[in-house]
Amino acid sequence: MNLNETHDPKAKSWIDVASDSHFPIQNLPFCTYASDYAPHGSIAVRIGDSLIDLYELCHAGLLKEADHHFACDFQEVLEFGGRAALTQIRKQLFRLLLTDNPDLRDNVEVRAKVVTPVENAEILLPMTINAFVDFYSGINHASNVGRMFRPDQPPLLPNYRHMPIGYNGRASSVVVSGEPIRRPKGQMKAPDSDSPTFGPTRELDFELEMGFLTGKGSEMGEPIPIAQCEDHIFGVVIVNDWSARDVQRWEYQPLGPFLAKSFGTSVSPYVVTLDALEPWRIQGQAQEPAVLPHLQNPGSSHFDIQLEVSIQSDKMSKPQVICCSNTKHLYWSFAQQLAHQTSNGTPIESADLYASGTISGETEDSYGSMLELCWKGTKPITLQETGETRTFIEDGDVVTMTAWCEGEGYRIGFGEVSTKVMS
Ligand code: MN
Repeated sequence: MNLNETHDPKAKSWIDVASDSHFPIQNLPFCTYASDYAPHGSIAVRIGDSLIDLYELCHAGLLKEADHHFACDFQEVLEFGGRAALTQIRKQLFRLLLTDNPDLRDNVEVRAKVVTPVENAEILLPMTINAFVDFYSGINHASNVGRMFRPDQPPLLPNYRHMPIGYNGRASSVVVSGEPIRRPKGQMKAPDSDSPTFGPTRELDFELEMGFLTGKGSEMGEPIPIAQCEDHIFGVVIVNDWSARDVQRWEYQPLGPFLAKSFGTSVSPYVVTLDALEPWRIQGQAQEPAVLPHLQNPGSSHFDIQLEVSIQSDKMSKPQVICCSNTKHLYWSFAQQLAHQTSNGTPIESADLYASGTISGETEDSYGSMLELCWKGTKPITLQETGETRTFIEDGDVVTMTAWCEGEGYRIGFGEVSTKVMS
């Protein structure tokens, strides 16, 4: 672990932070919000229920050059700075926000420009996503899908324990929490029917995933060695990888998912840095058989992040939790995913999104999709408040995912990704 003063669990800010907040001074996740001077987006960090505008802070002289790149041009920091530059910015912000630091606290004029209550801001997609890759690294999910669809064979395909399986998704339909998703139409074929039909999916599903956004890019033809992969990771968000199961079943052979996934992917707006997650670094599960050298993890490259999914129909007054899981169920780490992705020399750009794959736990209440929770539609979930049942997601349902690391007396959280499904 690489801990410094920004990980002090006792540190407090002069900005109020509720005890159950996801955003104490030890977190400082980045986000983009619409402001008067930048209607298309301005970079901020969140603390408590406040946003700290980095551009204004920089122009007030309170945020200095980071690793030879100006923090004012955040895009430059991301593309060229790597993790060291992010760490420098984090340390400066942390000190500025500490209880006893008067520099911003007592500067009324600058503070008025820099600090915005989150309730007055429109929180946008953190960055325009260049490319979207979806992995399949949740080993319990992959095993469950195998058991359902290939009951007479071993649950995992032969390649699963040798490389992180993934496919190229669609970046243009990645949207932020709060944006509704339209039930997609698609082609599907009932098992007892000779020919396919086209219409609204009847098996709309969520997938509980985490994803990382890249910062620093790489050159074509130059694979990133696994020990350097985390230097290219800007931070982590929650991902809901929406899926139309009936469309997927009909279209996926032989090239994998296509329109069943590309209609929409929802992400949480706060990018939590690896620095913030550092105290929750853990060893992943043992990888057997041993993986090839270029995919061997240096040290602990997994994280202990708690995950929760809830659902609320339009008749319900409050959400019902239907799944509790944890990122420790990922077989492949973020670093391994990125090492695999670039092992053939493909370049990565700043602002690529890599989703983990569905993160299911081992028990039935920890499965990260309706497909598994209701076991292919055979075990409906009852919504206690209204007695309604669900095997997949219906129009009007709101699906909310949240994630956090539990510390002693505080939480490093991701906020949520909450999405209403429309017809
Ligand atoms: Mn997925």
